[in-house]
Amino acid sequence: MKITLLSGKTFDVNADLGFDMKVVYSARSRRLSLRIDKKDRMAVLTIPRYCSKKKAVSFVESHQDWVLNNLKKIPELKNFHNHDKISLFGQIYTIEHSPIRGNTRLDKKNHILYVSGGIEFLHRRVKDFIKKLALEEFTRRSNIVADKIGKRVHNVCIKDTKSRWASCSTLNNINYSWRLALAPDFVIRYIVAHEVSHLKHQDHSAYFWALVEFLEDDAEKGRDWLTENGHLLYIYK
Ligand SMILES: [Zn+2]
Repeated sequence: MKITLLSGKTFDVNADLGFDMKVVYSARSRRLSLRIDKKDRMAVLTIPRYCSKKKAVSFVESHQDWVLNNLKKIPELKNFHNHDKISLFGQIYTIEHSPIRGNTRLDKKNHILYVSGGIEFLHRRVKDFIKKLALEEFTRRSNIVADKIGKRVHNVCIKDTKSRWASCSTLNNINYSWRLALAPDFVIRYIVAHEVSHLKHQDHSAYFWALVEFLEDDAEKGRDWLTENGHLLYIYK
Protein backbone atom coordinates (compact mmCIF):
# COMPACT_ATOMS: atom_id res chain seq x y z
CA MET A 1 0.00 0.00 0.00
CA LYS A 2 1.35 3.40 -0.94
CA ILE A 3 0.71 6.16 1.54
CA THR A 4 0.96 9.76 0.41
CA LEU A 5 1.49 12.40 3.03
CA LEU A 6 0.02 15.84 2.45
CA SER A 7 3.58 17.11 2.12
CA GLY A 8 3.77 15.02 -1.06
CA LYS A 9 6.14 12.45 0.48
CA THR A 10 5.13 8.84 0.05
CA PHE A 11 5.99 5.69 1.93
CA ASP A 12 4.92 2.08 1.72
CA VAL A 13 3.49 -0.10 4.43
CA ASN A 14 3.47 -3.88 4.34
CA ALA A 15 -0.05 -4.38 3.14
CA ASP A 16 -1.65 -4.12 -0.25
CA LEU A 17 -5.18 -2.91 0.17
CA GLY A 18 -5.79 -2.11 -3.48
CA PHE A 19 -6.18 1.63 -3.11
CA ASP A 20 -4.16 4.78 -2.56
CA MET A 21 -4.41 6.75 0.62
CA LYS A 22 -3.42 10.16 1.92
CA VAL A 23 -2.51 10.52 5.56
CA VAL A 24 -3.22 13.59 7.65
CA TYR A 25 -1.67 13.91 11.11
CA SER A 26 -3.95 15.97 13.26
CA ALA A 27 -3.20 17.21 16.75
CA ARG A 28 -6.84 18.21 17.15
CA SER A 29 -8.60 14.95 16.25
CA ARG A 30 -9.18 12.41 19.00
CA ARG A 31 -9.58 9.26 16.96
CA LEU A 32 -8.61 7.56 13.73
CA SER A 33 -10.95 8.31 10.87
CA LEU A 34 -11.22 7.50 7.20
CA ARG A 35 -12.99 9.38 4.44
CA ILE A 36 -13.10 9.24 0.67
CA ASP A 37 -11.64 12.07 -1.42
CA LYS A 38 -13.79 11.74 -4.52
CA LYS A 39 -11.80 14.31 -6.44
CA ASP A 40 -8.44 12.58 -5.93
CA ARG A 41 -10.01 9.10 -5.94
CA MET A 42 -8.33 7.97 -2.78
CA ALA A 43 -8.91 7.37 0.90
CA VAL A 44 -7.88 9.97 3.47
CA LEU A 45 -6.78 8.70 6.85
CA THR A 46 -6.68 11.09 9.78
CA ILE A 47 -4.29 10.00 12.52
CA PRO A 48 -4.52 11.65 15.92
CA ARG A 49 -1.52 12.40 18.09
CA TYR A 50 -0.17 9.43 20.09
CA CYS A 51 -1.44 6.76 17.73
CA SER A 52 0.84 3.91 16.75
CA LYS A 53 1.45 3.04 13.11
CA LYS A 54 0.34 -0.52 13.86
CA LYS A 55 -3.04 0.63 15.18
CA ALA A 56 -3.49 2.91 12.16
CA VAL A 57 -2.73 0.12 9.69
CA SER A 58 -5.11 -2.33 11.34
CA PHE A 59 -7.82 0.35 11.37
CA VAL A 60 -7.39 0.83 7.63
CA GLU A 61 -7.38 -2.94 7.04
CA SER A 62 -10.67 -3.35 8.89
CA HIS A 63 -12.26 -0.70 6.64
CA GLN A 64 -10.83 -2.07 3.40
CA ASP A 65 -14.20 -3.19 1.94
CA TRP A 66 -15.89 0.06 2.90
CA VAL A 67 -13.19 2.08 1.12
CA LEU A 68 -13.16 -0.12 -2.00
CA ASN A 69 -16.96 -0.01 -2.29
CA ASN A 70 -17.03 3.75 -2.01
CA LEU A 71 -14.19 4.23 -4.48
CA LYS A 72 -16.07 2.02 -6.95
CA LYS A 73 -19.07 4.38 -6.81
CA ILE A 74 -17.05 7.30 -8.21
CA PRO A 75 -17.76 7.69 -11.95
CA GLU A 76 -14.92 6.65 -14.30
CA LEU A 77 -12.65 9.30 -15.83
CA LYS A 78 -13.60 9.96 -19.42
CA ASN A 79 -12.94 11.95 -22.57
CA PHE A 80 -15.40 14.28 -24.27
CA HIS A 81 -17.13 12.31 -27.03
CA ASN A 82 -19.12 13.13 -30.11
CA HIS A 83 -22.84 13.61 -29.23
CA ASP A 84 -22.12 14.09 -25.51
CA LYS A 85 -24.36 16.64 -23.86
CA ILE A 86 -22.40 19.07 -21.70
CA SER A 87 -23.33 22.07 -19.62
CA LEU A 88 -21.42 25.26 -20.45
CA PHE A 89 -22.13 28.21 -18.18
CA GLY A 90 -25.54 26.78 -17.37
CA GLN A 91 -26.63 25.99 -20.94
CA ILE A 92 -26.76 22.45 -22.33
CA TYR A 93 -24.89 21.87 -25.61
CA THR A 94 -24.53 18.76 -27.75
CA ILE A 95 -21.05 18.08 -29.08
CA GLU A 96 -21.14 17.65 -32.87
CA HIS A 97 -18.03 16.61 -34.72
CA SER A 98 -17.87 18.81 -37.80
CA PRO A 99 -14.56 18.25 -39.62
CA ILE A 100 -15.44 20.36 -42.66
CA ARG A 101 -17.27 23.38 -41.29
CA GLY A 102 -14.87 26.10 -40.04
CA ASN A 103 -13.59 26.47 -36.49
CA THR A 104 -14.72 24.88 -33.28
CA ARG A 105 -17.59 27.09 -32.21
CA LEU A 106 -20.82 27.38 -30.26
CA ASP A 107 -24.15 27.55 -32.04
CA LYS A 108 -26.02 29.21 -29.19
CA LYS A 109 -29.38 29.19 -30.94
CA ASN A 110 -29.42 25.43 -31.56
CA HIS A 111 -27.34 24.52 -28.50
CA ILE A 112 -24.62 22.77 -30.46
CA LEU A 113 -20.87 22.83 -29.95
CA TYR A 114 -19.37 22.19 -33.40
CA VAL A 115 -15.90 20.68 -33.17
CA SER A 116 -13.56 20.87 -36.16
CA GLY A 117 -10.54 18.68 -37.03
CA GLY A 118 -9.95 14.94 -36.80
CA ILE A 119 -12.13 12.88 -34.47
CA GLU A 120 -9.02 11.70 -32.60
CA PHE A 121 -8.45 15.30 -31.47
CA LEU A 122 -12.05 15.91 -30.42
CA HIS A 123 -11.46 15.62 -26.67
CA ARG A 124 -8.47 17.97 -26.81
CA ARG A 125 -10.34 20.49 -28.95
CA VAL A 126 -13.40 20.52 -26.71
CA LYS A 127 -11.20 21.06 -23.67
CA ASP A 128 -9.25 23.87 -25.36
CA PHE A 129 -12.50 25.48 -26.46
CA ILE A 130 -13.96 25.36 -22.94
CA LYS A 131 -10.78 26.96 -21.55
CA LYS A 132 -11.03 29.78 -24.08
CA LEU A 133 -14.73 30.27 -23.36
CA ALA A 134 -14.03 30.17 -19.62
CA LEU A 135 -11.45 32.94 -19.94
CA GLU A 136 -13.89 35.20 -21.81
CA GLU A 137 -16.87 34.44 -19.62
CA PHE A 138 -15.13 34.56 -16.22
CA THR A 139 -13.41 37.82 -17.21
CA ARG A 140 -16.73 39.33 -18.25
CA ARG A 141 -18.61 38.15 -15.16
CA SER A 142 -15.82 39.11 -12.74
CA ASN A 143 -15.68 42.65 -14.13
CA ILE A 144 -19.43 43.10 -13.84
CA VAL A 145 -19.50 41.93 -10.21
CA ALA A 146 -16.34 43.90 -9.27
CA ASP A 147 -17.96 47.02 -10.67
CA LYS A 148 -20.81 46.67 -8.17
CA ILE A 149 -18.39 47.11 -5.27
CA GLY A 150 -16.20 49.72 -6.93
CA LYS A 151 -13.23 47.37 -7.42
CA ARG A 152 -11.18 46.45 -10.46
CA VAL A 153 -9.96 43.01 -11.46
CA HIS A 154 -6.40 43.22 -12.75
CA ASN A 155 -6.26 39.95 -14.62
CA VAL A 156 -8.20 36.69 -14.95
CA CYS A 157 -6.44 33.36 -15.60
CA ILE A 158 -7.82 29.91 -16.28
CA LYS A 159 -6.08 27.00 -14.54
CA ASP A 160 -6.55 23.27 -13.98
CA THR A 161 -5.93 23.02 -10.27
CA LYS A 162 -7.17 20.26 -8.03
CA SER A 163 -6.62 21.86 -4.66
CA ARG A 164 -8.93 24.85 -5.16
CA TRP A 165 -11.64 26.00 -7.53
CA ALA A 166 -10.41 29.54 -7.77
CA SER A 167 -8.15 32.05 -6.06
CA CYS A 168 -7.62 35.77 -5.81
CA SER A 169 -4.24 37.41 -5.19
CA THR A 170 -3.51 40.68 -3.40
CA LEU A 171 -2.63 42.10 -6.82
CA ASN A 172 -6.27 41.58 -7.84
CA ASN A 173 -5.52 38.66 -10.15
CA ILE A 174 -8.19 35.96 -10.12
CA ASN A 175 -7.64 32.34 -11.20
CA TYR A 176 -10.50 29.99 -12.01
CA SER A 177 -10.47 26.30 -12.80
CA TRP A 178 -11.73 25.71 -16.37
CA ARG A 179 -13.88 22.89 -14.96
CA LEU A 180 -16.19 25.42 -13.32
CA ALA A 181 -17.52 26.18 -16.82
CA LEU A 182 -19.24 22.77 -16.59
CA ALA A 183 -21.01 23.61 -13.31
CA PRO A 184 -24.59 24.93 -13.00
CA ASP A 185 -24.99 28.67 -13.38
CA PHE A 186 -25.74 29.36 -9.69
CA VAL A 187 -22.44 27.67 -8.78
CA ILE A 188 -20.55 29.87 -11.23
CA ARG A 189 -22.27 32.97 -9.89
CA TYR A 190 -21.29 31.96 -6.35
CA ILE A 191 -17.65 31.38 -7.27
CA VAL A 192 -17.41 34.75 -9.03
CA ALA A 193 -19.03 36.51 -6.06
CA HIS A 194 -16.59 34.70 -3.74
CA GLU A 195 -13.44 35.66 -5.63
CA VAL A 196 -14.55 39.22 -6.30
CA SER A 197 -15.33 39.63 -2.58
CA HIS A 198 -11.66 38.83 -1.91
CA LEU A 199 -10.81 42.09 -3.71
CA LYS A 200 -12.21 43.75 -0.59
CA HIS A 201 -11.51 41.17 2.13
CA GLN A 202 -8.49 38.88 1.81
CA ASP A 203 -9.82 36.55 4.50
CA HIS A 204 -12.91 34.43 5.12
CA SER A 205 -14.23 36.67 7.91
CA ALA A 206 -17.88 37.41 8.65
CA TYR A 207 -17.48 40.67 6.66
CA PHE A 208 -16.27 38.65 3.70
CA TRP A 209 -19.21 36.19 3.79
CA ALA A 210 -21.70 39.04 4.25
CA LEU A 211 -20.35 40.60 1.06
CA VAL A 212 -20.55 37.29 -0.84
CA GLU A 213 -24.18 36.93 0.18
CA PHE A 214 -24.91 40.54 -0.70
CA LEU A 215 -23.54 39.90 -4.20
CA GLU A 216 -25.15 36.50 -4.73
CA ASP A 217 -28.47 35.30 -3.30
CA ASP A 218 -27.67 31.66 -4.07
CA ALA A 219 -24.19 31.76 -2.49
CA GLU A 220 -24.93 29.11 0.11
CA LYS A 221 -26.56 26.84 -2.43
CA GLY A 222 -23.54 27.23 -4.71
CA ARG A 223 -21.10 26.45 -1.94
CA ASP A 224 -23.06 23.36 -0.89
CA TRP A 225 -23.23 22.13 -4.47
CA LEU A 226 -19.43 22.29 -4.80
CA THR A 227 -18.97 20.36 -1.55
CA GLU A 228 -21.47 17.68 -2.55
CA ASN A 229 -20.94 17.44 -6.29
CA GLY A 230 -17.67 19.20 -7.08
CA HIS A 231 -15.95 15.87 -7.81
CA LEU A 232 -18.28 15.41 -10.81
CA LEU A 233 -16.45 18.26 -12.56
CA TYR A 234 -13.35 16.06 -12.46
CA ILE A 235 -14.68 13.09 -14.39
CA TYR A 236 -13.35 14.56 -17.64
CA LYS A 237 -9.67 13.91 -18.20
ZN1 LIG B 1 -11.88 32.35 -0.54
